[in-house]
Amino acid sequence: MHGGFHPKSSTLRLYAKQKEGVRGLVSVSTTVLDEVTNIRKYIRKMAPTDRVLSEYLRQQKPKKPELDGDMNMEDPNDSFPEEIAAVKEDLENNDTAAAAAKIQEYLDKQNNVPLNIAITGESGAGKSTFINAFRGLSNDDEGAAPTGVTETTVVVKEYSHPNYPNVTLWDLPGVGTPNFPSDTYLKLVGFEKFDFFIIISDTRFRENDIKLAKEIQRMKKKFYFVRSKIDNDINAEKRKRDFNPEMALVKMREDCIGGLQGQSIESPQVFLVSSFELHLYDFSLLHQTLERELPAHKRDALLFAMPNINLEIINKKKEAFQSKIKYWATLSAAVAGAPVPGVSICMDLSMMVNVVIDYVVGFGLNKPSLQKLSASSGVPYTELLDVLKSPLAAVKITKELLLKLLSQMASTAALMALEEGSRWIPLIGIPLAMGLSFTTTYRALNYFLTELADDAQRVFKRALGLNTSV
Ligand code: GDP
Repeated sequence: MHGGFHPKSSTLRLYAKQKEGVRGLVSVSTTVLDEVTNIRKYIRKMAPTDRVLSEYLRQQKPKKPELDGDMNMEDPNDSFPEEIAAVKEDLENNDTAAAAAKIQEYLDKQNNVPLNIAITGESGAGKSTFINAFRGLSNDDEGAAPTGVTETTVVVKEYSHPNYPNVTLWDLPGVGTPNFPSDTYLKLVGFEKFDFFIIISDTRFRENDIKLAKEIQRMKKKFYFVRSKIDNDINAEKRKRDFNPEMALVKMREDCIGGLQGQSIESPQVFLVSSFELHLYDFSLLHQTLERELPAHKRDALLFAMPNINLEIINKKKEAFQSKIKYWATLSAAVAGAPVPGVSICMDLSMMVNVVIDYVVGFGLNKPSLQKLSASSGVPYTELLDVLKSPLAAVKITKELLLKLLSQMASTAALMALEEGSRWIPLIGIPLAMGLSFTTTYRALNYFLTELADDAQRVFKRALGLNTSV
């Protein structure tokens, strides 16, 4: 409480300073509070260059930090994942270029994990239609696998995901055809590269399917049975007087499983799917199963490639995007360490444009995806646009647009101004700028992501004719 005592007073009285616009006694508690605030400010200011203070801050971090809205921001000091732990050292040594390169490499690697899905089954079983639906395409879209072709597939065909080229679906010829006899089938199709197999049939699974499943098992690979065209079966069932959709599905599933068990497939995993209505029946269950059984580093590749078939998938995508924000923010902090004014914001914007495009595409909120959704759901494009609230959906993402939105976010604009100014404060300037840049990027990306995820939910509900108030 230094400075709080009046120097000429004979008693230990506390005075507010005249130049602060007041004069006279102040309460002890107010002075204590002032002092605590000053100490806090000092610790925050010095923490970036002082290990003890930074450790103190880390330990004091509240469970729920007070932040704008309901954002739960991580501490920059905790933001280095194990895989790129060396980044912290680079930053401490002021080697911001090395730090940025490591983070970028880490993020690139994460976005390029290959996922190869083999789809096999007899001609006409619905393989091509399934491949198209999985990639968010209708059978008559450009780049769609040709469907309804009667001749048997004689070659292995490769279809990469339009938005995620690291995800590939492979249309395999039916097993047991003259060019692909069952005993050499797996070798001929190059089974090693596949992460798992989906065996499709539009009726009961046949001897060849079962032989293949056993062979896949022997090669220590995973396989899943998809019973396709369930919409047809349900439509046929509807004609029955005692029609009960749930019971019809249970019976179909039991029949498939029973048939497979009868041919000594122990615990067959069977999924009833309509490629025309992925949001119905077992396609979500198939996704959940694949997600559970895939190695952890492949799960995001699968998730991002998945069409938005339910609100849970949209939420999972949001969470996956969110978990990466700290890396982008760290990258932005690393760039802010470069002592050139203006560079940080400029770099942040180019980076942010790319990240936001990823969000928009991932949630299917770009124009082509919305147009496809309109065509497949029958809901007019303009009606889908009507439920959008984020200014980032269905438009071209540019630096100018992001800058405009960022300056509209009052707290972010203030942080950006502060960041540029703080660069010139000797010694603490650079670390402080780094902290601010982290905060700016973190908040901005979190905000954009939340808005876009909400839009994705509204669009999904609108396409299905559900209530769109999210
Ligand atoms: P592939 O030969 O195994 O690639 O089979 P296709 O994908 O070409 O499908 C054969 C036919 O079945 C085409 O006329 C498709 O439109 C139709 N088909 C495929 N999947 C479904 C489905 O889920 N529901 C319905 N009703 N028809 C389907």
